[in-house]
Amino acid sequence: MKVLILNAGSSSLKYQLIDMNGEKLLAKGLIERIGIKGSRITQKVDGKAFDAEAPMKTHTEGIKWMLKALTDPEKGAVKSMDEIGAVGHRVLHGGERFTASVLVNDEVKNAIRDNIPLGPLHNPANLMGIEACEKVMPHTPNVAVFDTAFHQTMPRKAYLYGVPMKYYQTLHVRRYGFHGTSHRYVSKRVCEFLGLDRAHSRIITCHLGNGSSLAAVLNGKCLDTSMGLTPLEGVLMGTRSGNLDPAVVQYIANNEKMTVDEVLSMLNKESGLLGVSGISSDMRDLDDAADRGEDGAIIARDMLVWGIRKYIGAYAAEMNGVDAIVFTAGIGENNSNLRAMIMKDFDYLGARLDPEKNKTRNEAVISTDDSTVKVCVIPTDEECVIARDTLAIVEGHPIVD
Ligand code: AMP
Repeated sequence: MKVLILNAGSSSLKYQLIDMNGEKLLAKGLIERIGIKGSRITQKVDGKAFDAEAPMKTHTEGIKWMLKALTDPEKGAVKSMDEIGAVGHRVLHGGERFTASVLVNDEVKNAIRDNIPLGPLHNPANLMGIEACEKVMPHTPNVAVFDTAFHQTMPRKAYLYGVPMKYYQTLHVRRYGFHGTSHRYVSKRVCEFLGLDRAHSRIITCHLGNGSSLAAVLNGKCLDTSMGLTPLEGVLMGTRSGNLDPAVVQYIANNEKMTVDEVLSMLNKESGLLGVSGISSDMRDLDDAADRGEDGAIIARDMLVWGIRKYIGAYAAEMNGVDAIVFTAGIGENNSNLRAMIMKDFDYLGARLDPEKNKTRNEAVISTDDSTVKVCVIPTDEECVIARDTLAIVEGHPIVD
């Protein structure tokens, strides 16, 4: 079966078409600026590029263009849209309702809608992606794969905040965590890779990209994770502040005559590596600037490293030790310098990096042979998880988690 993977944003659609017979990537595309002047679609199939600028006012029009590109006689990947057996949608927030991926029906759509207050930027877009597919491909089943689902195994002591219980009971205020498909994939893959018994394993996964989160995965289940009610909590990120004293919000709002919404927007979009350095949200730019001795870049990078080390120490404590520490996503997979900074002085834990092995960008062990804690790079593959879940659900097989 050929499965389409869709990641719908408010003005964009990212897609991949995967042939599940061999898990081969057939096509990869991006539609940008939906509803904005200059909408365009770019797609790659076997090195052949489809590139068009066309007005796309809605996600439905975007999906129509996607199908046009996918079935293009010269630059497409399939002869007809009937070859697409199912669509797997990345959905940000499943709240407490979804602990695993599900076949989309009206009830599921309503539940995604109910979770809009928890994921105000993403859930409406994810829903638009689903409804557009339903309109344009009415006979193709849709599956929703939630970023939050993997973290639903956290115990209460890990997911509750220290606020009156009524806010959890009435408003569902709690830690949900995100990047769940990535943490799920790499925590499982590292066990296969190292030959660990997953049912008796203690893994710390570090998903470090533009958005970053860590997770403690005990015996294959999420025990704790750094992101919270929203993706704002945790370590410093590209433009997000990560952890801070909540009183900072009030203090800045009062002094700068800003609303809470404005402060939150600043914490999401103008903070983190970008805000601290004043240079860039991209780690590559910060490495270059730090090499030139620019203080903003040096301190932003030091803060990121500091925060990640704190979580690694905390998660090792929560699990009574750790068997493997995994680095993944844009920074985790590619930035050996940052990995070396993070893993410095973890000898007490039994983890020491091998500088030569650490040069990799591929799946590899990067710790020394005598390290009792294995440190690994495992490239993440969220699309693979979405595609596998989608196939299992439409074929009626149990999901392999
Ligand atoms: P992501 O959100 O996973 O795409 O990660 C984005 C971050 O990863 C940015 O800070 C980039 O600097 C970093 N990154 C992505 N690709 C590379 C690369 N090839 N080399 C170094 N850093 C990279």
